[in-house]
Amino acid sequence: MPNEYDVIVIGAGTGGYVAAIRAAQLGLTVAVVEKQKALGGTCLLWGCIPTKALLEHAHALKVVQASKEWGIAVDTSGAKIDMPQVQQRKDKIVEGLTKGVEFLFKKNKIDWIKGTAKLTGAGTVEVNGEKQTLHARKEIIVATGSSPRGVPGIEIDHTRIITSDEAIHLKEVPASIAIMGSGAVGVEFASIFHRFGSQVTIVELLTRLVPVEDEAVSAELEKSFKKRGITCHTGAKVTAAKATASGVDVTVQLADGKAQSLNVANLLVATGRGPVTTGLNAEGLGLQMERGYIKVDAHYRTSVPGISAIGDVITLGTPGHPQLAHVSSAEGIFVAERIAGKNPRPLNYDQVPGCTYCDPEIGSVGLTEREAKERGHEVRIGTFPFGVLGRAKMAGETEGFVKIVADKKTDALLGVHMIGARSTELVAEAAAALRLESTVAELITTIHAHPTMAEAIAEAAHATHGAAIHS
Ligand SMILES: Cc1cc2nc3c(=O)[nH]c(=O)nc-3n(C[C@H](O)[C@H](O)[C@H](O)COP(=O)(O)OP(=O)(O)OC[C@H]3O[C@@H](n4cnc5c(N)ncnc54)[C@H](O)[C@@H]3O)c2cc1C
Repeated sequence: MPNEYDVIVIGAGTGGYVAAIRAAQLGLTVAVVEKQKALGGTCLLWGCIPTKALLEHAHALKVVQASKEWGIAVDTSGAKIDMPQVQQRKDKIVEGLTKGVEFLFKKNKIDWIKGTAKLTGAGTVEVNGEKQTLHARKEIIVATGSSPRGVPGIEIDHTRIITSDEAIHLKEVPASIAIMGSGAVGVEFASIFHRFGSQVTIVELLTRLVPVEDEAVSAELEKSFKKRGITCHTGAKVTAAKATASGVDVTVQLADGKAQSLNVANLLVATGRGPVTTGLNAEGLGLQMERGYIKVDAHYRTSVPGISAIGDVITLGTPGHPQLAHVSSAEGIFVAERIAGKNPRPLNYDQVPGCTYCDPEIGSVGLTEREAKERGHEVRIGTFPFGVLGRAKMAGETEGFVKIVADKKTDALLGVHMIGARSTELVAEAAAALRLESTVAELITTIHAHPTMAEAIAEAAHATHGAAIHS
């Protein structure tokens, strides 16, 4: 293998591997240094793919459990999850996708250098695994991602007190599980394990579940979770957790200040993820850092010329850079195109769709009602419940709603927030509308097919203008 390339990418997650493919498509020679045995990073190995595979299993069980209602005559009295089979199917999906990335590397003549990369100068990278020094003629792209972040005082033993990395591999359904944190990861695992048969307790420090979502969505999720028997403690915190031979003794300080003791089979710490820069020598080389993240400008250039960074490992210096697979990929494509001399348009972070695949699903894009008001908009709101729709009734998925946030004066669409079945697919329409700077009137005059769940978007748009047709 050569040791000089136009571009060297460190990390083959959804940021790094997509950047590499785009750079190769544009005629650049590319090497990717990746320390894991498989390509794809967090998304493919521990994140999006394994969790959504488990959620599909949970959905399959839900359908089986409701078979009587559907007029399907099978004996479901013993219907339960077969964990070894679930794990086998999930692992097969993951393997297929990682092999797919390997195939794309070969197709685009990208070299995978196996090992851990260390930055040794502008344009040079040392790889321990293959004891090799690589030179980048044009640029190095750091895409080293993130890993689960613990909480002071709670010792993660990876057996009883676990993170999402272990939760995806559990060999048995835990009889009970407490989940610290109700962000996307927390509520997705709550949905999975509750459907699989665990007794689930969520402990969230803030006053509502999924705190980044619109407040109406948070309230709907809490209502739905409580209805199905998931215990939700908001405004509460885990003050102590001790792993024992058979489980975990957890102390929770509830919103009213009272302490509650729980004994659960597992405690899942889902309180967020931190940047991965160990061994990278980012600080040694003088890269500007902020709270451990690599600081970049709007074109993803670090403070050291010739080194860019993308994905979960970066901060743009503004709060809340989204740690999402599609964001890292979009940043990777931007950087590859910039290096190739194109003039890509900077990303608009107000237009990033967010999907949470809990049950019921959440899809959202743009400003929440609160954010719109904070930015000085006089807002107009329209909501429409899925339950009214024929398609929702047929599917037996009648929970939730679509909520539109618009500017009252200009009619500009500012945000769309939905909770309910298929919201993670439906949000694509809202993202396109926002990208095309649609008004609510344009959304109303977009003809929506019948019967579909998407009719709720058109109806919410009608509601924003004063009256939905079907409510
Ligand atoms: C449970 C869970 C569920 C998720 N679900 C979703 C979802 O549904 N949708 C979504 O959009 N996002 C989801 N995410 C987030 C998503 O996985 C991340 O945002 C995304 O993977 C970030 O991509 P990245 O390329 O920045 O980093 P990563 O995917 O973390 O990749 C970084 C890679 O760099 C490698 N690396 C690190 N340091 C070095 C080094 N020094 N040398 C060589 N290699 C190195 C690592 O081994 C890794 O492969 C989920 C995350 C988790 C944990």
